[in-house]
Amino acid sequence: MSDSDKRSNQRKLQTRIESIVRFYDDLAERTRYGPVQPYCHIPDLFEIDPEAERPLTVPGTFISEQVGGNIPVTSNGGGLLDSEPLDLMLSYYLPGGYKRRWDFEMWTGDFDASQRDGYVDITPGFEFRDDYPLEDIIGSMDSEGYTPFGYTPDEVGLYIPEEIFVKEPESPRYFFDTVNNHVLNYKPDDALDEDVIDLGMSDPTSNFLWFKHLHRLGGDIEGFDTEVGDDLFSRIVFSDESVFLKCYYATVLTLYRQDQRTFSEVVRYFNDKDNRVGFVTSEEKSQVLLFDTPRDWVEDSVRTVLESNESLQRDLGFAQLYRELWDDLFFKDRAIQNVYSVGPVFKALQAVDYWLRTVDDGSATVFKSSVKEICGVLDKVIPDSGPSRLRLLGYDTEEREDLKTLFREHTEELREILEHCVALTTQQEFAEQVLVHSLQNAVAGWAVKAGLGGSDFETWYDANYQSKDVEAVQIALYDSIQGGAGTSKEVFKRLKDGELDIHHPLSRQCSCHISLAEDLVLSLLAERDASVLYDIYTGGDGDDDAIRRDLFDLAVDTATGICRSDLADEEETLSIFNRRIASLYETKELARFYGAVAQAYQRIADDLTRTPTAMDVVLGLEEETFVDSRVRNTYERFANRGSQRRDLSELADRVEEITKQCIRACPDCLERQDSMYAYRYQTQMLDKRLLQTALPEVTNT
Ligand SMILES: [Zn+2]
Repeated sequence: MSDSDKRSNQRKLQTRIESIVRFYDDLAERTRYGPVQPYCHIPDLFEIDPEAERPLTVPGTFISEQVGGNIPVTSNGGGLLDSEPLDLMLSYYLPGGYKRRWDFEMWTGDFDASQRDGYVDITPGFEFRDDYPLEDIIGSMDSEGYTPFGYTPDEVGLYIPEEIFVKEPESPRYFFDTVNNHVLNYKPDDALDEDVIDLGMSDPTSNFLWFKHLHRLGGDIEGFDTEVGDDLFSRIVFSDESVFLKCYYATVLTLYRQDQRTFSEVVRYFNDKDNRVGFVTSEEKSQVLLFDTPRDWVEDSVRTVLESNESLQRDLGFAQLYRELWDDLFFKDRAIQNVYSVGPVFKALQAVDYWLRTVDDGSATVFKSSVKEICGVLDKVIPDSGPSRLRLLGYDTEEREDLKTLFREHTEELREILEHCVALTTQQEFAEQVLVHSLQNAVAGWAVKAGLGGSDFETWYDANYQSKDVEAVQIALYDSIQGGAGTSKEVFKRLKDGELDIHHPLSRQCSCHISLAEDLVLSLLAERDASVLYDIYTGGDGDDDAIRRDLFDLAVDTATGICRSDLADEEETLSIFNRRIASLYETKELARFYGAVAQAYQRIADDLTRTPTAMDVVLGLEEETFVDSRVRNTYERFANRGSQRRDLSELADRVEEITKQCIRACPDCLERQDSMYAYRYQTQMLDKRLLQTALPEVTNT
């Protein structure tokens, strides 16, 4: 045994003894003073035992543990603080992360600036037990498709920690070292003043970005080919010992300057000892259900939609624009400085599209315009003074000039992004990712709704399949409980025997109550006379339920494109419909106003050939000639006409009440809390309509 092995063994033994002593001390303490009598729960002891197999398994028992395994957390001053799930520790203490924890003190990971500019060295903060070159995991390809940075796989290593080292900040004051991209708690002596930003006492907000990779299938592996004719899944496989790797690759920091200005920074990780970019990785071991989705189905479905549905195609184009602004102008070029600025840049481009589409010659789009044209339209949609056009939404002249400078300084990048969003191959590629990701989330939603042994499931899809020579795209569903709750195998059997229907429930996942209720309200208000509707709504003899159901039935009859059989859960849709109507019909004046807005919405949807947003409608109302002077008065009041107030108009809020909130997806249908696209563009990477159109026809029962 080498000296370093000996030292490592000694340290493990010491940690082990310390853990056990601490565990019993703590137990004794709680027994003495606690209101409830705790007892020695063996798995709790295993949890802090560094010798237990990681990810933590308790062999020979049925007791389940969260996937991810535990690791010892050590203070840099020496001494074990705790044993905690690795994933939890990574979600607190990767570079840039601060969190109150032990003794309710502030703690942070023990990291340092790296030899590579703009990266943080992860080696002081971890003891690693395993590492893999990224190439071994995803194969060789020009660049990976998981992160916005497009690394070549051979420059990256995956590092699995066995121990994490944390420290208490030297002072409660924060600084940002702009040269080394590193948050500090002291001002370095040798740094120039302009290189260090004083953040005062506000701790940074940190969001960690990750992706997952299926590492291996093990244990009992069983699979079956689905019936011929099932386009959606060609094969379903079960494995009771799969391992997924969750790789953290960057921290997005929101920092608060002393002068109140907020800015963002992206911190990436480097392993200075190996001279490689580092992805800090945890292993998730569980039972898994793997679904093979034929690539042909994905490609054909997307191609058909892009060719035949212009409105959806344009909506997808804007989703892609939003993603590319994040990836290229925020992450890669750092041209957009702040996470909060991506939205306004995107909306400004959408407003330009509105203008080109409706006001100028009516056929142009922002995607085909030059930067010069875009800047010219910006002058029109954000006029120099007065509450009109985008100024109604808080855009001012200064912001307009900033946007123009951004676009001019990054003309080439912006042109490339815009071209991507309408080029056939890149749009196809993007929409395929959206389709597979939507399917992944729908499968997870199905599993939860069908009560398949958990309130939540981990999900995965192979985001790199387009760079591989494969015939099927893999989608995985696994328990968040390590080892599985034991039901995955049961589910697999039932799927195999044809006892469990997945197609119909997937289709139901796409039929969102919120979206349907929104569509029904919009049609009803646009097509029927507002005063008459309001009288029906407020009339009656106290039998409100019957009146509301009448209105709902009227809406279903009125709406083109929605029939009763589309309503997966009519009662749920009805109750959302009622809530919306109640908020829009507070007074007759409001009812009339919303009727006019709904009409404008329908007209704008036709003009734009995409789903209008609140911003489009605010711009559209500017062009509207209100026949009814009462409606005009209401509009002018909300738009602050004639008012000297400099605050935001009420109009935007009012319009948002009626425009669609669930255009692509919402938490009620396909959005999920735990997403590899979180903090950036999860919603843009989902589309319930795209999935719905692609799913094989199922007969409603
Ligand atoms: Zn929805």
